[in-house]
Amino acid sequence: MDKSKDLCGSCGMCCDGTLFPSFRIYAEEMDLFNTMSNTIPQSCEHFEGCNGCKIYNKRPFTCQQYKCSVLRAFEDGKLSYEESLEFINPLKNDKNNKELRSDFISGRVIEHITKP
Ligand code: SF4
Ligand code: SF4
Repeated sequence: MDKSKDLCGSCGMCCDGTLFPSFRIYAEEMDLFNTMSNTIPQSCEHFEGCNGCKIYNKRPFTCQQYKCSVLRAFEDGKLSYEESLEFINPLKNDKNNKELRSDFISGRVIEHITKP
């Protein structure tokens, strides 16, 4: 398993409803879900906790494209794996914290490492 997939596997907050109440898919992806709508509520029916996404290899385009600021910083080499977890875990351990959630979505949790 590559390290990015590993990091997301230990997080899951863009699938479990912590960050987003729902997400959009294309009409041709609707047969992947138990729905007649192209708006999929979170927690996603394919989210399997630590095991990640049940349909990972054929997950919707939206899911393939989404990378939070922590994952991007990790893939850019600005954060180590352990440092990435230090940004993920506070929200993971306090999922109803609106301020932490807002800072995570906006990237403010890591903005001090992205400033020149
Ligand atoms: S919130 Fe970020 S680190 Fe967590 S699963 Fe989504 S993309 Fe991966
Ligand atoms: S389809 Fe998979 S990657 Fe997309 S939200 Fe659901 S569990 Fe997450």
